[in-house]
Amino acid sequence: MTERSGLSGRQANRRGGRFRNPWPIASSHRFGGFLRWVLFERLTQKLPADPDPSVFQVAEPAFRSPRAAAAELTVTWVGHATVLLQLGELNVLTDPHWSKRASPLQSAGPARWVKPGVAFDDLPPIDLVLISHNHYDHLDDRTVRRLAAAFPDAAWRVPLGLAAFVRRRGARDVEALDWWHETRLRDTVVTCTPAQHFSARSPFDRNRTLWCGWALARQGHRVFFAGDTGYHPEFAAIGERLGPFDLTLFPVGAYEPRWFMGPVHMNPEEAVRAFQDSRAGCDEGVMVPIHWGTFKLTDEPMDEPPRRTIAAWTAAGLPRDRLWLLEHGESRRLAADSASNPE
Ligand code: ZN
Ligand code: ZN
Repeated sequence: MTERSGLSGRQANRRGGRFRNPWPIASSHRFGGFLRWVLFERLTQKLPADPDPSVFQVAEPAFRSPRAAAAELTVTWVGHATVLLQLGELNVLTDPHWSKRASPLQSAGPARWVKPGVAFDDLPPIDLVLISHNHYDHLDDRTVRRLAAAFPDAAWRVPLGLAAFVRRRGARDVEALDWWHETRLRDTVVTCTPAQHFSARSPFDRNRTLWCGWALARQGHRVFFAGDTGYHPEFAAIGERLGPFDLTLFPVGAYEPRWFMGPVHMNPEEAVRAFQDSRAGCDEGVMVPIHWGTFKLTDEPMDEPPRRTIAAWTAAGLPRDRLWLLEHGESRRLAADSASNPE
């Protein structure tokens, strides 16, 4: 593991046993703000209506099983932040979640709107699991146990503070990284990237573990999974150091109300801006919107994030064929030598 220079080494990023965002961000995202949101706004204001969940189609996945050819880069959206990436022969899962609820309880909490786009038992052999942080919609106890049992040789890469969580649930090859640190998995370079967010699984452990995104480079393929994040000033640096990315997975949902969610979740307009930051003037590369349509977490209607993402993308003058708005379960493929011609 090597450390690259950056603003956010372990010391800069950690104070008093808690991690923090190194940029000035709005101070509204505190417990008092949470109470104002759930006890006042949600009880006194009418939320915009959601569509019926049947508006979201589930596609038949078309990933390569067990493994893709070396030149191919395949992305399959399972739902929310769970994506099956195939960088050539390497099979990768981001923030795996196959349970019914994004919650500590299976009887209460945000329930799944759409079933996982890939059945757990249909997964190809998983080589690498990337975890962005410990919120229940990204790190699911039962899914970690199932994966660790089904794929005991998988490598797990997690942000600082989360290694023990996945080890206790059966994962064996585990490494925890700080922002800008990289590690190698055979011929793949895996780099932990900054994100603007927070962590908590209970009222007592806020920011005790880190949050992050991940960049992957393997045999000419470059992918950026941004994790869960607000808009921050480091996207250009991530693109310069680790790009240009063929594929960028950006969260576009869970953004209302802005006064509370703005510091920790990008809205579609910010995601498009972050994509442009990370492209640094280069017009190739594909964005795949994630973190929408699967769990109802916040106040915007469930079908608003894709509509606003298309509008923001078009307003930015970006080519429509480079925005891959996937259905749950949908797979798409890029070939390394024809990145501009998706199948
Ligand atoms: Zn989160
Ligand atoms: Zn989330």
